[in-house]
Amino acid sequence: MARHLITSAIPYINGIKHLGNLVGSQLPADLFARFQRARGEEVLFLCATDEHGTPAELAAAKAGKPVAEYCAEMWEVQAKIAEGFRLSFDHFGRSSSEQNKQLTQHFAGRLYEAGLIEEVDDEQIYSVADGRFLPDRYVEGTCPNCGFESARGDQCDNCTKQLDPVDLINPYSTISGSTDLEMRKTKHLHLRQSKMRDDLNAWIDSKSDWPVLTTSIAKKWLNDGDGLQDRGITRDLNWGVPVKRGSEDWPGMEGKVFYVWFDAPIEYIACAKEWTDATGQDDAAWERWWRTDKGAEDVTYTQFMGKDNVPFHTLSFPVTILGSGEPWKLVDYIKGLNYLNYDGGQFSTSRGRGVFMDQALEILPSDYWRWWLLSHTPESSDSEFTWENFQQSVNKDLADVLGNFVSRVTKFCRSKFSEAVPEGGTWGAQEEALIAELTTRLAAYEQHMNAMEIRKSTGELRAIWVAGNEYLQSAAPWSTFKEDPAQAAAQVRLALNLIRFYAVLSSPFIPDASDTLMDALNSEDWSWPTDVKAALETLGAGHAFAVPDNVFRKVTDEEREDWETRFSGTRD
Ligand SMILES: [Zn+2]
Repeated sequence: MARHLITSAIPYINGIKHLGNLVGSQLPADLFARFQRARGEEVLFLCATDEHGTPAELAAAKAGKPVAEYCAEMWEVQAKIAEGFRLSFDHFGRSSSEQNKQLTQHFAGRLYEAGLIEEVDDEQIYSVADGRFLPDRYVEGTCPNCGFESARGDQCDNCTKQLDPVDLINPYSTISGSTDLEMRKTKHLHLRQSKMRDDLNAWIDSKSDWPVLTTSIAKKWLNDGDGLQDRGITRDLNWGVPVKRGSEDWPGMEGKVFYVWFDAPIEYIACAKEWTDATGQDDAAWERWWRTDKGAEDVTYTQFMGKDNVPFHTLSFPVTILGSGEPWKLVDYIKGLNYLNYDGGQFSTSRGRGVFMDQALEILPSDYWRWWLLSHTPESSDSEFTWENFQQSVNKDLADVLGNFVSRVTKFCRSKFSEAVPEGGTWGAQEEALIAELTTRLAAYEQHMNAMEIRKSTGELRAIWVAGNEYLQSAAPWSTFKEDPAQAAAQVRLALNLIRFYAVLSSPFIPDASDTLMDALNSEDWSWPTDVKAALETLGAGHAFAVPDNVFRKVTDEEREDWETRFSGTRD
């Protein structure tokens, strides 16, 4: 049995995410986790909320709540929505956990001992009007790289360049709008990433199987201009992990916290400990996933994330891991994803443009969204959501191809035989041809899924559904029945078994529909097919089933028009 550690980029705590966020990491990660579990592999699938930093403080202030209370509430909201989309995390943690606090302080201590953390007398922007320093998003201004006028202090949303607040041109406070800002001295810690540049280059060069999107982004940050820069990892804030070296105080760093981007990826590890603590297991149970000296040497670790997160996962977090000098598990494969756009523009959280995860579940069950999003995963380039495409894809793939097959087969069997798998007849050339095609397609499907080629996987799964329809059309048991009922019985028996075959193969994409099909078939045999012929003989003659209700319904033109208008902007 292979062992797969899988993490999704952790969503930020401030508010409900849109469908672009969902397909940008959590959903593809869930697909991969479900596929590996379905094949009997051992999986630990982790995700969490990213809770520190200025955006959480700003959002809490806007909501009129203490930041800790705000985060706890928003974690509940996000956890519930994740459940609604059937995201099958083994644990959904929180970066503000005690476990992450301790581990972050531990790593800082190790990095300091290794000479990779430097104490720097920094100059930071201080707002005279607000009486405080203005880290990250507490200051905005013009991007020195692209000229975008509302670049945030930590990153430009337009060109994705990571920034320091002092880089901004014409800066102003986002608390008061004041431009009465001055530079004041304050002590900070810098992570000496530049010292690790050669190690990182060698490590990334060894990853010849990574997507070009991932390695090209990493190489750009490593080598462009003056190469990888050292980075401040502390902030003058209250909300966050207090700066310590392991369990010891850090002289001169009182009242400061680690920068959110330092502690957030460490939560991938801490989340595993949260999981074992929550389930009453000992530390060995999570360490066997994360420590190569404690059992993790045979683990394959895969991370999923949007392209904007790639620099942190290919550079900053590996500096933390490698620099600690401890045998932590490094990522084996990074699946970086492009963006999903919305109807001719971008999703916009601030303008409420596009479909948000809670709204999506209010209008249709999660499988409809899962199928459309995964079949349009932005892999090689950005992709676009349009309602017309959504309607077409759902109606054709789910209702016409899969749903219709299930309905025709089960209803025909009920009307001509009974609500049990019929007996009699034998397979002929048509059935052998179908088995041969399915065998080839199953192998291709598995290969694409293992390689996380999501669109190719979707195409293959769809082709597997189509093959069943084509078989049914050409075998035509409703005609066969008139002359040779036994032969029609053999055809229907195969078709009923195909429904189980489809339920098992489709479960990583549309888990609820797969459950519905298995319930209707009165089967709990989820075993992944290794031999198609044997798999299509699983349900023997006499096995009782029920005709399921409409598994998928169609999206009407009226609904499509209504939703187009409703989600065009200005939420609430
Ligand atoms: Zn910019």
